[in-house]
Amino acid sequence: MNKRNTSIDETKNTKDVLEDTYDVCVVGGGSGRFGAAVAAARLGARVLLVEAGRGLGGTSTWAGVNNYEPVAGATGLPEEVYHRLREIPNAVALQCRRESHRPEWFWGGFDCVPETDYRLSLSRRGGTPITFEPETLNQVMLDMVALSGATLLLQTRFKSLNRQNGYIQSIVVEGSNGNAVIQADIFIDSTAGIYLAQAAGCQMAIGPESPSVYEEPSAPEKPDLVLNNASLCYRITPLKKDEPSQIQSLPTDVDLNKVQPVTSIRTYPNGDLNMNPIHMMTGKEAYELGEKAHEIAQKRILAHSHILQTRYGAQNESPFSFDRWRIVWVSPMLGVRETHRLVGQYVLREQDLDSGLRGQVHDDVIALADHSIDFHGARPSRELPGPYGIPFRCLLPIEVDNLLVACRGASFSSIGASSSRLSRTMMVLGQAAGTAVALFGTDVHRFDSEVLKSQLRKDGVALDLKTGYLDAMDDIVPIAKPRW
Ligand SMILES: Cc1cc2nc3c(=O)[nH]c(=O)nc-3n(C[C@H](O)[C@H](O)[C@H](O)COP(=O)(O)OP(=O)(O)OC[C@H]3O[C@@H](n4cnc5c(N)ncnc54)[C@H](O)[C@@H]3O)c2cc1C
Repeated sequence: MNKRNTSIDETKNTKDVLEDTYDVCVVGGGSGRFGAAVAAARLGARVLLVEAGRGLGGTSTWAGVNNYEPVAGATGLPEEVYHRLREIPNAVALQCRRESHRPEWFWGGFDCVPETDYRLSLSRRGGTPITFEPETLNQVMLDMVALSGATLLLQTRFKSLNRQNGYIQSIVVEGSNGNAVIQADIFIDSTAGIYLAQAAGCQMAIGPESPSVYEEPSAPEKPDLVLNNASLCYRITPLKKDEPSQIQSLPTDVDLNKVQPVTSIRTYPNGDLNMNPIHMMTGKEAYELGEKAHEIAQKRILAHSHILQTRYGAQNESPFSFDRWRIVWVSPMLGVRETHRLVGQYVLREQDLDSGLRGQVHDDVIALADHSIDFHGARPSRELPGPYGIPFRCLLPIEVDNLLVACRGASFSSIGASSSRLSRTMMVLGQAAGTAVALFGTDVHRFDSEVLKSQLRKDGVALDLKTGYLDAMDDIVPIAKPRW
């Protein structure tokens, strides 16, 4: 790859100069970006990572989504992350649904189990989730990035870019010392909201498509802007025996009609509970509120906690007795499930999900997944027959030759994204993006799929059912009963 110097921004407030040279600049530090940066750097590319926040992991750490849902194909880097977390006490655990769960309760609770075989998490149907300490995940990711040789720039936000003749020439980022211009041969957009692709003028979509777009069987005839719900996750810890109950006071200016008790609850390895309130803010409301959304969501989760404590306390036979728990942490980042998506060289759609790996005809499948079509009540949801493949072309824009999109905003239809967006699937997509740019450089849009798949397999990514799908493995017995 050609090495170019990063240069000083010519705008007046430039204070910072980046003096090194980079083949690849990855923007956004979530699951996708982490995978992309580590994979590219390990294969010898000079990588710069730019992340707006204080650490890595994005939604998985800073939005408190410290839960890896069971999913086929979560192999390669996510599996390595799990094994590194396992080396640290109380950092990670497989989970199983609580025996005491009752359908009339408004939450789904999961407990840690002693089993440790990672393959148990590789199936939506019979697999088990994994819960981890978010701060430890951040540390493990920081270590892996440092070991890979990639350069990391935290608290630095992408602002704008300069595109000419189908190429991004440079991007402008803003850090604590002001603005800087970064030049690189290739850029990978892992900002979730695909801010680079937006700025580069790539075609995008938001919300549901009508059947006329991809002929999806369950696409709505008259699509409205309906987005998957947003959630602000929080952590609660049990009170000591002699501590009096502390009922969370109800904020005065909160609309209680918007706060439902429905919660996904996961047990942290240390016994605390992760509360993911599913119905507290619609995706559309979060999108329209923009930066104000977190502040409003924060009031709603205090109300959410109050409702659980007063309705499901010790006297209600609830296994959690929420009045004996108190909030110890509220996520600094609102959990946003859906915003803009790229319309790239191929758009993953409902037909892919239903055909499954065996029925799909793509020769560039670089990740497996099998999560349900899941809109959290905002639109109809359903389980899938089995695992499907995600083609590499979903990461490639049509309009820009040196840009890849490796995050939840990749080229998926709204229905496709509702299934594929899981953290570990995003990490595998990132791994594919990083691997491809290291292998093919600026020719990445003319990738050789066999070469790419062969490298991914070498690096632990399972692209067949026998190695990537728990239900197809003969030598391991799932902990949980198949769910349907
Ligand atoms: C409430 C909720 C619950 C979920 N539950 C689960 C679950 O149980 N299991 C599961 O596997 N998945 C779950 N998901 C889905 C999954 O967590 C996300 O889809 C996935 O983590 C997204 O990864 P990503 O890399 O695309 O984006 P993110 O992890 O969101 O990372 C994007 C990163 O880009 C950075 N960024 C944004 N803008 C800029 C900028 N201008 N400049 C620089 N950096 C920028 C952000 O700071 C962030 O770090 C859930 C999601 C939500 C919101």
